[in-house]
Amino acid sequence: MNAEEEIKQFALQKGADAAGIASVADINHYAPPGHRPDDILIGAKSVVVLAGYSAFQGAWHSPDHRTHYYNRDFPRIRLSAAAAVSRLIESRYGYYSLAETPPSLGFNPCLSHKLCAEMAGLGTRSLAAAMVLNPKLGMPSFSICITTMPLKADGPMTEPVCPHPSCVKLWEKHRTTPCLDICPECLSGEIEGERIKWMRYDRRICTTRAQTESASSWLRTLLEAANEPDPGVRKNIFLGSSSRLNMAAITSGAVFGQCGWCLINCPVCMQARTLKAIEPTSTTAEDSH
Ligand code: SF4
Ligand code: SF4
Repeated sequence: MNAEEEIKQFALQKGADAAGIASVADINHYAPPGHRPDDILIGAKSVVVLAGYSAFQGAWHSPDHRTHYYNRDFPRIRLSAAAAVSRLIESRYGYYSLAETPPSLGFNPCLSHKLCAEMAGLGTRSLAAAMVLNPKLGMPSFSICITTMPLKADGPMTEPVCPHPSCVKLWEKHRTTPCLDICPECLSGEIEGERIKWMRYDRRICTTRAQTESASSWLRTLLEAANEPDPGVRKNIFLGSSSRLNMAAITSGAVFGQCGWCLINCPVCMQARTLKAIEPTSTTAEDSH
């Protein structure tokens, strides 16, 4: 097994559902200065990208969106999985590595995990909030390990995952797709042939609608409470359910963006969250004890 295979295999053992490798040169072709892997780790050559199902498939089959939100499991372990990969590369191969990046400035991440995932061949951008779709995982969640180790990159996919053939047909008939139809406030775009012609995602609207349980949301609550002159209302702001949910999200690490409603009828995601019945293996007398 070569180094690339060993690293990817290790990532899977640590909880990822897929792993890929991007070259820093490919990422830097698109990322602006200040938002590149070698702005974070001097001499960075490769980025190992870990992808996982964003939630259990069962979570998509709950009528309560909160159940879905609280069953997003890979986002809770993705950083520790990437940290384990970093540790492996440092201890086994002797190359500097890291797994956590500095915090975003406003809306701008210091490094786009989506871009890294695309360059690692783990999916392509979609009309749904420019999220990266993967044919097997639907809308995956990502974490990364940046390393100075020169690794053979997987490179981007040659065929786009979005639009799905059924969305192309729908576009031809009705000039819409399931995602555009559900969230016209945030999303717009057009399909030409079997490709996205153009798309626009208004993340300012999406953020305020979809990130209601997070550190930013808690800071907004604090400001609102500080400016509230009525002591009774102020008390309600501090002790109300919104504050409680914010604190629960922050302390459990469950601060993920986007409601994902635009993907509820996405055929790529519907396929990914549909389980196929698995034939039970025959049990032996020993197994049953
Ligand atoms: S995540 Fe929610 S708010 Fe954001 S684009 Fe999708 S449906 Fe709209
Ligand atoms: S529904 Fe899914 S596959 Fe279809 S256009 Fe939207 S994101 Fe792409």
